[in-house]
Amino acid sequence: MAHTGGCLCGAIRYAVDAPLRELRACHCIDCQRASGAHGAVVAFVRREHFRIVQGTAKRYAKKADSGRTLFRYFCGDCGSSLYSYRENMPEVIGVRAGTLDDSSGLRITAHIWTKSAPPWSYLDPAARQVPGQPEGPPRPA
Ligand SMILES: [Zn+2]
Ligand SMILES: [Zn+2]
Repeated sequence: MAHTGGCLCGAIRYAVDAPLRELRACHCIDCQRASGAHGAVVAFVRREHFRIVQGTAKRYAKKADSGRTLFRYFCGDCGSSLYSYRENMPEVIGVRAGTLDDSSGLRITAHIWTKSAPPWSYLDPAARQVPGQPEGPPRPA
């Protein structure tokens, strides 16, 4: 297994059987609310490389600023945000980097929705920065 991860309380565990390298940081208001922080940092993976190995995550659906509905999955016990995907692109999963057991070696290659990033958010100047929604679909591992 290339990567494993789970929520804070340990009820939900997942596995990713593809190597992850790139992270994308989203600073949209929804991701700030959902994370309670500066936004969400995710690694994209194809659905066939992602599986829940323990527990069942709860789902919250919300239409994003982009107009697309995003399904956000989280632990109903401890509240950890675990993964999400777009209603119209269920084949690509965005795994929350902070839930990975080992995220060493991964780096943020793009910051998106930087126009709504709070002033206390760190934006890596070496990464691509996009004010709103980037063109094209995410590139999964
Ligand atoms: Zn939990
Ligand atoms: Zn976002």
